Amino acid sequence: MNILVINCGSSSLKFQLINSESKQVLAKGLCERIGIDGSLTYQPQGGEKVKEDKAMPTHKEAISYVIDALTDETTGVVKNLAEIGAVGHRVVHGGEKFASSVVITEEVLSEIEACNELAPLHNPANIIGINACKELMPGTPMVAVFDTAFHQTMPKKAYMYGLPYDYYEKYKIRRYGFHGTSHSFVSKRMAEIVGKPYDQTKTIVCHLGNGSSICAVENGKSVDTSMGFTPLEGLVMGTRSGDLDPAIVEFIANKEGLDIAGVLNVLNKKSGVYGLSGNLSSDFRDLEAGAKSGNEKAATAQEVFAYRVAKYVGSYVAAMNGVDNIAFTAGIGENDGRIRELVCENLKYLGITLDEDANKTRGEEVRISTPDSKVNVYVVPTNEELAIARETVALV
Ligand code: AMP
Repeated sequence: MNILVINCGSSSLKFQLINSESKQVLAKGLCERIGIDGSLTYQPQGGEKVKEDKAMPTHKEAISYVIDALTDETTGVVKNLAEIGAVGHRVVHGGEKFASSVVITEEVLSEIEACNELAPLHNPANIIGINACKELMPGTPMVAVFDTAFHQTMPKKAYMYGLPYDYYEKYKIRRYGFHGTSHSFVSKRMAEIVGKPYDQTKTIVCHLGNGSSICAVENGKSVDTSMGFTPLEGLVMGTRSGDLDPAIVEFIANKEGLDIAGVLNVLNKKSGVYGLSGNLSSDFRDLEAGAKSGNEKAATAQEVFAYRVAKYVGSYVAAMNGVDNIAFTAGIGENDGRIRELVCENLKYLGITLDEDANKTRGEEVRISTPDSKVNVYVVPTNEELAIARETVALV
């Protein structure tokens, strides 16, 4: 079955048309600057990537251009909409309501809307995308796949903050976690690779991309994860600070003359390795080049990043009372051997020895621990779109 996977942001829309049996991406692309001016980038399998300016006042026009491109006589990959079996929508926040993917109905839509307060930048855009698709593809079943759902198995001791209990009851303040689709996909694949039943393995997934999070997956269930009420908590990321002393918020506000929104903007957009490197870059390729040419701040940014990862891995070994596998994934996890090396230097106590040659590999599934290591360390490329397509097929 051909599944259209849609990932809507407030002014952008990423899409892939995936054949769920062959796992092939038949076409993919991106609409940008929706509501401003608009452009569509489209690439059919084996074909050229073409970017065209197109007026997109709303997501509805964007999706209608995507459908036109997919069904176009020359560059299209399907004859008509009937060849698209279902649409899988990535939805950021499912709150406590959604512990798995669901077929979208009117009731589900209003429940997703009820989660808007928890992800005000993302969920409204996801809903706009769903509504636009419903209008343009009325007969096609749609499924919502949530970033938070996989983590709904966390025990209470892992998701409660040390705050007055009634904040949880009144406002639903708790750890939710994100990147669930990726953590689920990679931990399942990890079990397959080592040939162990998924429900009998302890895996730590390090999803290290521009946004980064770590997840402890015990016997197929997320039992803890580093992102929290929002994606700001946990690891030092591209531009996000990750964990810090909450008292710093007021201190920065006073020193810099900022309000709370202003400080949060700094913590989300100007911090992380970007801030640490003296605004050199949030991209780890630039940090590596900087560090090699003697930029001390760039080297510090790499070290702080890797040290935080290693500390979280250690804490999740404690959370699960052991670990069988550690998987690195996403842009940095799959490609940055230096970061993996720095992390593994702090994991020798687990009986892990890094296979330095294997660690030079980029973007491929590979074992990077030596055969005599007590814990398997692998690079496992993530594929969130394929995971969404699979979830969608399973439900329709
Ligand atoms: P993602 O959010 O998973 O797409 O990851 C994007 C990030 O991965 C970029 O911002 C880079 O920091 C990092 N990245 C991508 N390619 C490489 C590479 N070849 N070497 C090191 N880091 C990379």
